[in-house]
Amino acid sequence: MPSPHVTEPSRQTPVYGDYEVVVVGGGPAGIAAAIAAGRSGRATICIERYGFCGGAGTAAGLCTFCGLHAVVHGEHEQIVHGIADDILARLERMDGLNKPHLTIQNQILAQAYDISAFKIAADELLAEANVHVLFHAFATGAVMSSDDRIEAVLVETKSGRFAVRGQIFIDASGDGDLAAWAGAPYEVGDGAGNMLYPSTMFRINGVDPAKAGRAWELIPQLMEEAEQRGHSFPRKKPIVRPQRNPIEWRANLTQIKNPDGTAVSGIDLRELAYGEVEGRRQCWDVFQFIKETTPGFEQAYIVEIAPQIGIRETRRVRGEYVLTESDILGCRDFADTIGVQGWPVEAHIKGDVKFVFAARESRGFNEIPYRIIVPQKLDNLLVAGRCASMSHEGQSSARVSGPCFIMGQAAGTAADLALATSLAPRAVDIAMLQQRLRAAGVNLGPSGR
Ligand SMILES: Cc1cc2nc3c(=O)[nH]c(=O)nc-3n(C[C@H](O)[C@H](O)[C@H](O)COP(=O)(O)OP(=O)(O)OC[C@H]3O[C@@H](n4cnc5c(N)ncnc54)[C@H](O)[C@@H]3O)c2cc1C
Repeated sequence: MPSPHVTEPSRQTPVYGDYEVVVVGGGPAGIAAAIAAGRSGRATICIERYGFCGGAGTAAGLCTFCGLHAVVHGEHEQIVHGIADDILARLERMDGLNKPHLTIQNQILAQAYDISAFKIAADELLAEANVHVLFHAFATGAVMSSDDRIEAVLVETKSGRFAVRGQIFIDASGDGDLAAWAGAPYEVGDGAGNMLYPSTMFRINGVDPAKAGRAWELIPQLMEEAEQRGHSFPRKKPIVRPQRNPIEWRANLTQIKNPDGTAVSGIDLRELAYGEVEGRRQCWDVFQFIKETTPGFEQAYIVEIAPQIGIRETRRVRGEYVLTESDILGCRDFADTIGVQGWPVEAHIKGDVKFVFAARESRGFNEIPYRIIVPQKLDNLLVAGRCASMSHEGQSSARVSGPCFIMGQAAGTAADLALATSLAPRAVDIAMLQQRLRAAGVNLGPSGR
């Protein structure tokens, strides 16, 4: 029987460069982290496996910023500020931003953007902050200088394998890749093996906007009626809405399961490979239904199926605090706030999406504590974005773009403070961090005023 392993020869790995701040991942969290560190004057590199930034916001075809707004005592308000504003302003200037629209049964605002414009806005803002963006570099491992310190990240590239050495590392990979390799504790799913279900997003072009009208209301109704006649769709609560130019619509209505019905895992190679094919199959299937049944879509076609399956949840790295559903629904304040967010709990469960909002008459947002981006055990690592320290239910809310911008900006700023004071990120002065974030336009909530 052949051995299940091969032995690789030991090797000397060339150092690509030495940086003060090394960010892994160029999604919403990584973009904000790298810009904040770069603007602080730190030699910063952002390592991204694709040839563009934006994370799920571009690679998984989202097209919409959620979590920038909240319903504050019944009024809709943009509550997330800071680097998020710079991104919005850049998109607006490029004519790549819709006005905010009501979503989730008209209960909260979200804001759609053009994916290509987001890629370019990120390129420009990162360049202006003097961040070196290393595209086409897949981080694959960590070299440790001790049990609790990372010395370098290993990257695989078309030019071979390199080590990127750094002083402070920020894991914004969405999957907690670097934190896991470095030995930080983490959790996956709800404790019973269930992760949020992924979706493959697609965009439709060639829609007749006048005929389509408010088809975002009609399509869910048509799908529901078809289900009553025996048609089966991947999940309930489909979202199909117009983009900036209403000949183009985005579609978020697939749900990617394994043959046994469990959610495809974004950290399992075989499941990911299966999920990509299954995702495209679902896109094609449901698009045929929309085209055949919806006025205004007769000449429509799929202009793009997102380059990759959209992964909502994988590892959540255990930090000094775990943000929970009750913190979110209870609009909780924290003395170490780094910003605010008010997105509801949005649980992608089998066949459906379950939304839970804070009470309508409540303040409608919670503060985000610094401790959720400070992992246990590691002394020169911060973890920002959907893989930060949250419970399964807490992550079902605070994983969307708005809070990811907040966590990223705080991580990049905290990295600068840690370097300036020669302290571990967990020991940085919170009042000083808050002062810096406030000065950079971040809304810290009542505890940070
Ligand atoms: C189908 C779907 C629909 C969604 N809809 C919305 C929505 O409408 N609005 C919204 O705000 N949020 C939405 N979300 C949530 C979305 O995941 C978050 O908003 C956000 O993208 C998470 O940001 P992040 O930076 O933490 O991670 P990600 O966006 O996942 O970014 C991680 C980045 O790291 C890179 N990366 C990962 N591993 C490595 C590695 N080892 N080496 C190098 N690079 C690496 C990736 O390529 C990626 O660019 C949706 C999610 C999904 C899956």
